[in-house]
Amino acid sequence: MLEFLNNIRIKYSEFMVGRYGMDKLNWALLAAAIVIHIIYRIFGFFVIRVLSWIAVVILIVRFISRDHGSRTKENIWWEGKSTEIPAAIASADRSWRDRKTTLYFNCEGCKTKLSVPRGKGQVRVVCPNCGQEMFKNT
Ligand SMILES: [Zn+2]
Repeated sequence: MLEFLNNIRIKYSEFMVGRYGMDKLNWALLAAAIVIHIIYRIFGFFVIRVLSWIAVVILIVRFISRDHGSRTKENIWWEGKSTEIPAAIASADRSWRDRKTTLYFNCEGCKTKLSVPRGKGQVRVVCPNCGQEMFKNT
C-alpha cells in the first residue's frame, strides 16, 4: 500500500515537471468553482453549473500549462483585480450607508469618485484630482 502511494507520488512529480501548478488565481478559480457549485445545488439552474465547469476547466488548463510567462501575467492581473474588488464593494457599501447624508458622484472630467454633504442647496465642486468645476444640487 505504501509503495503504491509512493508510486503515485513519483508519477505525479514526473507529470508536474515544468508545469505551472497553483497560484493565487488558481486558488480563486477553485474557490469560485466550489461556491458556484453550492449555488447550483441550492437553485439548480443549469447555466450556473456550466459556469462552475468553466472555472474548473480554466483551473486545470492553467495548472498543467508549461507557459509560465503567460500564467504569471494572468496571476499579476488577478492580484491587481483581487484588491480592486473588495475596495469597490467597500466603496459601494459606504455610499449606500451614507446616502441620506452624503451625495456621491463621479467627476465629469476624470471619473474620480467625489462626495459632498446633502442639504446644502446648490454647491460648486472643484475636483481635487483634475480641477474640473461642477455644480451639484445637494
Ligand atoms: Zn476630476
